[in-house]
Amino acid sequence: MQQPTHAIVPPYLLARIAAADDLRFPRATAAARRSLLRDAPLREWRSAAERPPFLLPEHPARDERPTAGPGLAPAPDRRVSDAEGEERLPGRLVRREGQPPSGDRSVDAAYDGLGETFELFARVFSRDSIDGAGMPLEATVHYGDRYDNAFWDGERMVFGDGDGEVFRGFTDSLSVIGHELAHGVTEHTAGLRYQGQSGALNEHVSDVFGALVEQYASGQDADSASWLIGEGIFTDLVEGRALRSMLNPGTAYDDDVLGRDPQPDHFDRYIETDDDNGGVHLNSGIPNRAFALAARELGGFAWEGVGRIWYDVLTSGRLRPDTGFRRFAAETVRAARERHGRDSREERAVAGGWSTVGIEVPRE
Ligand SMILES: [Zn+2]
Repeated sequence: MQQPTHAIVPPYLLARIAAADDLRFPRATAAARRSLLRDAPLREWRSAAERPPFLLPEHPARDERPTAGPGLAPAPDRRVSDAEGEERLPGRLVRREGQPPSGDRSVDAAYDGLGETFELFARVFSRDSIDGAGMPLEATVHYGDRYDNAFWDGERMVFGDGDGEVFRGFTDSLSVIGHELAHGVTEHTAGLRYQGQSGALNEHVSDVFGALVEQYASGQDADSASWLIGEGIFTDLVEGRALRSMLNPGTAYDDDVLGRDPQPDHFDRYIETDDDNGGVHLNSGIPNRAFALAARELGGFAWEGVGRIWYDVLTSGRLRPDTGFRRFAAETVRAARERHGRDSREERAVAGGWSTVGIEVPRE
């Protein structure tokens, strides 16, 4: 049975590349067509109303286990495998925890990226891996023939090499790795259903932690951060900086072949569509902007301010699988108040971020 995937490159973008007559990117066009073919049955299945029980528990598994305190010093347990150009998982195990660099650039980048993601969750949020209980971090690289995507299949991260014309490859972007692993964290906490508004929030949460992993690893504060997701995955032949911009949704790329980044930056422009699980990669721009604005308003390191507030919400047990934007926004304001006090800077910054994107949270 095909595993469900959370892919970083949305179907509408692959469709643009696949449909391009342009002789500019013959390899990319062929690769995108193959990627779409491979993903098509999966996407149909995922948008069905009924989801298999292993993906969406009736009562989402909340972490009630104690998280590791500073004394416990959780350590990652990484395992990177090589699919050697086949579409087979997991592939051949090539680097385990503690082993020296393999010399394969993708293997070592994936290993390092898994480590950086683990560090953020362990040190900042006292979370021991994806499930909060030391789950091994597994990845497979060199998946498929110039496969134009990276995805989380519920157990592991899988990286394609990219076609080399449009996409450079996926292991070099720390925000992509953090994004994919955060899908696992969401599955183990809030269990946001991957459809419509709750699906866009699921995507949003992954972008939040993807950006935070990158900022944490390089010590960037909210002002100096790029707020881009997937920076560097496009080749120089493409007019694009990244897949998405959290701070300015709709501005990540504008290219003859790719088209223009279609993400809305305001709730008034929420996109109703049947594609992309109800526009999960599109409408995530709206909460993304609210988060980035709140982080910039507060200044300093985003993982210490809004990052903790968002993590509180994710693990609060107060989100439901079908939580929508308004409820989620209200929970973030509530979490800011609980952590920092009524009418605190943090509460005002979070409410202000949502207000700018058209979501007013009634003040209590
Ligand atoms: Zn995703």
